[in-house]
Amino acid sequence: MIIEIVTIGEISHRVLSDLASKLAGIYSPLIESCVIGAALELPPAAYDPNRKQYRSDIILERVMHRITCENKVLAITDVDLYVPTLNFVFGQAQYPGRVALISTCRLDPKFYDKPSSYEILLERATKESTHELGHTFGLGHCHNPDCVMSFSDSIVETDRKPLTFCDVCTRKLHN
Ligand SMILES: [Zn+2]
Ligand SMILES: [Zn+2]
Repeated sequence: MIIEIVTIGEISHRVLSDLASKLAGIYSPLIESCVIGAALELPPAAYDPNRKQYRSDIILERVMHRITCENKVLAITDVDLYVPTLNFVFGQAQYPGRVALISTCRLDPKFYDKPSSYEILLERATKESTHELGHTFGLGHCHNPDCVMSFSDSIVETDRKPLTFCDVCTRKLHN
């Protein structure tokens, strides 16, 4: 199995290639490699002009319908995502399944009027991608705060949690 990263919107090649090599390491030996795949269009139906945000569940479904292979797919977008019950989401995934989605919009320090930092953006994107892909591998939210599968609904929580799985999630992942 491989992880294919598909882009929806403007994501720099540097982010994509660095993210791909990090995910290949984190999910080895479950996956053979992580590759950069197609660029997809944003579905206009996902956009809410009042909220100026995109519905993550609609985008996720569109990506699912395009997938024909047996791989895992990580879709990455730069637009702000939401589901109707929440102000925003960093990402969403099938649980379990093959498709995960993250947005870099709220991972960029610039969103919080902080100076731009490539290292911070990449670290956050790697955490959120690892978390959402973890759902596709059947991992739920973890109550251990020292686990990448712990739930985060703010950037403070994302920064607080580690990039690694706790022992329980590690065992579940490899079973
Ligand atoms: Zn989650
Ligand atoms: Zn855990």
